[in-house]
Amino acid sequence: MLGTNAAVPAQTHLVYDKEKTVAEETYEGEFYCVKCKDKRSAKGNIVVNDRGTKMAKAKCPKCGTNLNRILGKA
Ligand SMILES: [Zn+2]
Repeated sequence: MLGTNAAVPAQTHLVYDKEKTVAEETYEGEFYCVKCKDKRSAKGNIVVNDRGTKMAKAKCPKCGTNLNRILGKA
């Protein structure tokens, strides 16, 4: 047992500083659109999520659905 402070969430206060964006990265390539059930070529921004995983985010040029593609660890 590690104490009784279960009410304190594990460190979840990662603050994203939008003013301090480091040279925006973009990704151009194939995404899988779950709506079209097909691959789409699109261009989007690369973001890093709170687990340090790099993801590309784009929009399907056909239907406008958000597309995510996991690129791996940052
Ligand atoms: Zn689509």
